[in-house]
Amino acid sequence: MKMMNNIDEIIKVIQKNNSFLITSHINLDGDGIGSELALYFILKKLNKKSVILNQDKLPRIYNFLPDNNKVYHLENNFSDIKNIDVGIVLDCSNIKRIGKTYEIFKDIRTVINIDHHESNEKYGSLNYVDCSASSVGEIIYNLIKFINIDLLDEDIAACLFTAILTDTGSFRYSNSSSKTFEIASRLTSCGIKSNLIANNVYNRNTFPGLKLLGKALLNLNMNESNHVSWLSITRKMLDDTKAKDEEIEGIIDVATTLNNVEISALFRETKDNKIKVSFRSKGNFDVNKFAGKFNGGGHPNAAGCVCSGKLDEIKENILSELFNDIKHIGYKNKDKYFNNRKDSL
Ligand code: 5GP
Ligand code: MN
Repeated sequence: MKMMNNIDEIIKVIQKNNSFLITSHINLDGDGIGSELALYFILKKLNKKSVILNQDKLPRIYNFLPDNNKVYHLENNFSDIKNIDVGIVLDCSNIKRIGKTYEIFKDIRTVINIDHHESNEKYGSLNYVDCSASSVGEIIYNLIKFINIDLLDEDIAACLFTAILTDTGSFRYSNSSSKTFEIASRLTSCGIKSNLIANNVYNRNTFPGLKLLGKALLNLNMNESNHVSWLSITRKMLDDTKAKDEEIEGIIDVATTLNNVEISALFRETKDNKIKVSFRSKGNFDVNKFAGKFNGGGHPNAAGCVCSGKLDEIKENILSELFNDIKHIGYKNKDKYFNNRKDSL
């Protein structure tokens, strides 16, 4: 068992040091960005210097967050990252997930790993992993509570609410606990408007983005029993619609909304000629474990992996493995997953 630290040890290291570099995973999401910015604001209030640097550019839907222009990415040619005392990695189950920023992080002596993935590899000098948290946003909230809850303000609350909202699928996934709702409630009492945050994240689709959704849904498939759905997105579909890669986010969730479907998969060609696969499950089928068969990971209900090869071959290979797995489980109480995970697949 690799070292797990308690929250006091993490806070001591934060208090003792002055200069921090914060990062999160490739294909940035709301939890990664919201948690990064909240931590950045807290460090600023503690009179510490911190820089946020990710491999990928901030997705447009998050450009409403306060100080989002402080979220740098590698192509920004950013040079102000000398003399870093501590690196902080958020929402990454393994260090490879930070992508090319690893070239910078590998030279930082102290790295704090803060995460909520069950499969976290405890790669940090200090590791704080809470799998019961819906999101890293929830963990950062607890960190602030331990440091000084008076530091919480409207900007920080907006970032943390965004992190929680997006990682819980707007409070629809099974990771939304009573703790999650309690924190969300406390954040809304800081003056943020939850409806405006939701509008920013979910109601600013572009025309090409929606056209891409339409094209993707034209090749939506289901298996005979209607419990598995899948779809693919090719480079040609992205080129034809002029949609951006970041606009693929959310399409898998539409496939998952199908009645009776328990598991969905989305296969997509990436810019660097790889095949990225996303998995979602509404019930007991653990897609984190399943993605692990292909060197991926994630959460029991949302996971992914990256493969090399041709889209059709990878799709066939992964789907036949999936059908083989679910054949052994059988299917009973088909509508129960709405109430109780234990009763589904
Ligand atoms: P998405 O399908 O939205 O990219 O990711 C869903 C979840 O799976 C997220 O929690 C994400 O961190 C995780 N995930 C996605 N792709 C990978 C991967 O290639 N490796 C690992 N370890 N986790 C992944
Ligand atoms: Mn997360």
